[in-house]
Amino acid sequence: MNAQSDQALLSWISSRQSWMLEQTQQLAQINSGTFNAQGVSQVAQALVEIARPLNAQVEKIALPAFRTVNLNGEREERELGPALSLIKRPDSPRQILLCGHLDTVFADNDPFQQTRWLDDERLNGPGVTDMKGGLLILLTALMALEQHPEAEQLGWRVIMNPDEEIGSPCSADLLREAAETAKLGLVFEPLLPDGAYAGERKGSGNFTLIVRGRTAHAGREIENGRNALRALCDLIIELDNLNGRRQGVSINPARFHTDVPLNRVPDLAVAQFNIRTQSHDDEHWLHQQLSRLALGLNGREGYSLEIEGSFSRHPKRLTPANQALFKLLCHCASTLEIPTQIKPTGGCCDGNNLAAAGLPNIDTLGAEGGSIHSADEFLIVSSLSRRAQLTASFLLAVARGELDSVLWPHLNGG
Ligand SMILES: [Zn+2]
Repeated sequence: MNAQSDQALLSWISSRQSWMLEQTQQLAQINSGTFNAQGVSQVAQALVEIARPLNAQVEKIALPAFRTVNLNGEREERELGPALSLIKRPDSPRQILLCGHLDTVFADNDPFQQTRWLDDERLNGPGVTDMKGGLLILLTALMALEQHPEAEQLGWRVIMNPDEEIGSPCSADLLREAAETAKLGLVFEPLLPDGAYAGERKGSGNFTLIVRGRTAHAGREIENGRNALRALCDLIIELDNLNGRRQGVSINPARFHTDVPLNRVPDLAVAQFNIRTQSHDDEHWLHQQLSRLALGLNGREGYSLEIEGSFSRHPKRLTPANQALFKLLCHCASTLEIPTQIKPTGGCCDGNNLAAAGLPNIDTLGAEGGSIHSADEFLIVSSLSRRAQLTASFLLAVARGELDSVLWPHLNGG
């Protein structure tokens, strides 16, 4: 079946390798730290240009501002760049969703802004792997598919969000709505450092503890003070002691802050922590623990505790549908002589969001590389065309109905 067109698709992608690399380098040199709304917007526009040959319906979607509580216990709003949406053949019977993110963890004042070669095969640069290279893989695979006679069998939507690196708080609704109109999700996060795909993923939440006490002069009337810092430290110790108490759950108290002169008892102290979970029940368990801590402190004269935050990502399990996706992906990979292995990870991504919306997905279809989220981030440049070939082969198999029995049982051949 169309063996000639299949070979042509793979060859065309090989011929795009240096273009993919060039575009990745250019995108990496536009700073798009999550809170650099202008830079994110510039990256979105560059991608609109890159995606032009796809002839898709393009939309930049403004998102609500990011609301947070800062380390002074004050509520803050921060503007974000837009999300980018591309839609093609929304009426086709098979609808899939491809996701990537425009943002990186590197703010506009971070010293890490340029790309440089480590050797012939590895390019160091901000976001080259996570995930500007991945975005090129996504778009190149679609461009290859669109040249194939069987592309007509598949309708697709691409969402590129601006806030993945902070847990997608403002694009969560958009992701959920898009997930609900598709049956299959593909996310272009990098492979794990050893080249494995992520299988199960933990869930994650960020929380802020705001302790209020009572100020007093440190010399004249310390006994009248209620030291918020001391109370906060007790809470942090209790929280940290929860580590090891529940299988698969870890708590990381990471920041704390007070701001008073040394001769005053601090009446405000704020801490922030992250928690990782393995099951939905773990979330209830944490809320119970937090209620217990709040009850304890609020019961003490002169003190109060306020807790802000939520679980932005729920754990992702490997469902039978997810396993069917991996089976097909492994088959495509073996044809291309790409080794595959699948491993659980404590990290989370938009694959968690899609899974929570009921969408089976593979979320590590992006670039090969390593040391992401650090100034040592590197891309294995040959992986750009290799991974685009894999995704294109997978898309073609989906267009041919190879997942129909699992995802589209009402279609012929299912
Ligand atoms: Zn990423």
